[in-house]
Amino acid sequence: MLPSHVSLVVAGGGPAGFMAAITAAEGLRLQAAASPAVLVLEATPEPLHKVLISGGGRCNVTHACWDPLALVAYYPRGGRALRGPFSRFATAETVAWFERRGLALVEEADGRLFPRSQRSVSVVDTLRREAARAGVGLLTGEALQAAVARPGGGFELRLRSGALLRADRLLLATGSHPSGHRLAVGLGHTVVPPVPSLFTLRLADHPLADLAGVVMDPVGLELTLAGTASRRQRQSGPLLITHWGLSGPTVLRLTAFAARDLKQAGYRGELRVDWSGGRSQLQLQELLAELRRDQARKQLSNARPWPELSRRLWLHLLDRLGVDAELRWADLGRRPQEALIEALRASRYQVSGRGPFGEEFVTAGGIALGEVNLATMESRRQSGLYLAGEILDVDGVTGGFNFQHCWSSGWLAGQAIAAAGP
Ligand SMILES: Cc1cc2nc3c(=O)[nH]c(=O)nc-3n(C[C@H](O)[C@H](O)[C@H](O)COP(=O)(O)OP(=O)(O)OC[C@H]3O[C@@H](n4cnc5c(N)ncnc54)[C@H](O)[C@@H]3O)c2cc1C
Repeated sequence: MLPSHVSLVVAGGGPAGFMAAITAAEGLRLQAAASPAVLVLEATPEPLHKVLISGGGRCNVTHACWDPLALVAYYPRGGRALRGPFSRFATAETVAWFERRGLALVEEADGRLFPRSQRSVSVVDTLRREAARAGVGLLTGEALQAAVARPGGGFELRLRSGALLRADRLLLATGSHPSGHRLAVGLGHTVVPPVPSLFTLRLADHPLADLAGVVMDPVGLELTLAGTASRRQRQSGPLLITHWGLSGPTVLRLTAFAARDLKQAGYRGELRVDWSGGRSQLQLQELLAELRRDQARKQLSNARPWPELSRRLWLHLLDRLGVDAELRWADLGRRPQEALIEALRASRYQVSGRGPFGEEFVTAGGIALGEVNLATMESRRQSGLYLAGEILDVDGVTGGFNFQHCWSSGWLAGQAIAAAGP
């Protein structure tokens, strides 16, 4: 039975909505003897669906970045504005929150934190169990369709089924779904237009197609986009060559930071790739001079400049420059030597479009941060309205940062709602 009046309606049963609902219900229960009336409305039959499919079925819950000031650097949208929220609830608080509720997290070599069970369903089970324990009501297959602020405070809500409901407070945690944006606009907000973030890159005529599967680390990337006012975008780290173009954490980071400019440039531009592992021109000149001296009789194909340089990539670069791989190092002339150094430091490729998305797919854009009090997540446009998670104009790079923002903003909203009282 749907109650006719509740303290809080949370629209959206994702990670941000669950964190906010649990925190609010726990806080309100301390103040009132009766179970608080907190209701989560989830449009689909399956709440926390993205948590379930996240991290390849393992759920990358957060990232072992313990300093809130360092953490903000992982958010192309949000950034410095998140300093305040993260100083109250960030990685350490998230790990402790889950551990207190029986879910231990383990760190991988690259800093990503996963449930010890290595199964995302553990995260889903923990959130659902804690919500039930806190007395949170959950209505699935029911969407919030319209919300009108009442003159004396609170909201009149209409659900997809036609049911009507009154709520003292409303939290929108509908992720990137347009219905949440529409509801927020109806309550006085503006939406920074959504664009995709965290995707891979397609290369024109894919000159590296034969190298699909090759991983190089570190690789330096510099993206130049025609017709955009922005500076060049640079990133460095591991890169994976795929059969359509380039992927790997560095490419995802690059596309996240350049998401808007890439959209504006029609996903076309020039990518300069530094395969040299960060070696300077001088260091490469010295390295090649050493090879000419110490490996003089060896063929180029059998003595590549350094062991971590993929042999397939090395042969490809020689071929691309028309340098005979059978040539001995002693016989390598000055001009081809210079061309090789240039190819190792700054090979140029034309980006022709977006490739498939990476493991994590998020949307850049959403409710403008200036319209929200980031200490409480309450709207500055409409009292009693709260916003948390991906509905906001915040997105992180891949590695657990997107969920971290959901835990932080959800917790802050829940705390503020509880502090405001039943
Ligand atoms: C395949 C994939 C893998 C990912 N892996 C990771 C990862 O490992 N680590 C990480 O940090 N991030 C990951 N992400 C990103 C992460 O899932 C999102 O950032 C996060 O789920 C956003 O949470 P949210 O609660 O804001 O919104 P969502 O998770 O999108 O939840 C919003 C919910 O609201 C519901 N809804 C929408 N409109 C209404 C309405 N009008 N009424 C009622 N309900 C409504 C939706 O059905 C949805 O269930 C991944 C994303 C994808 C797609």
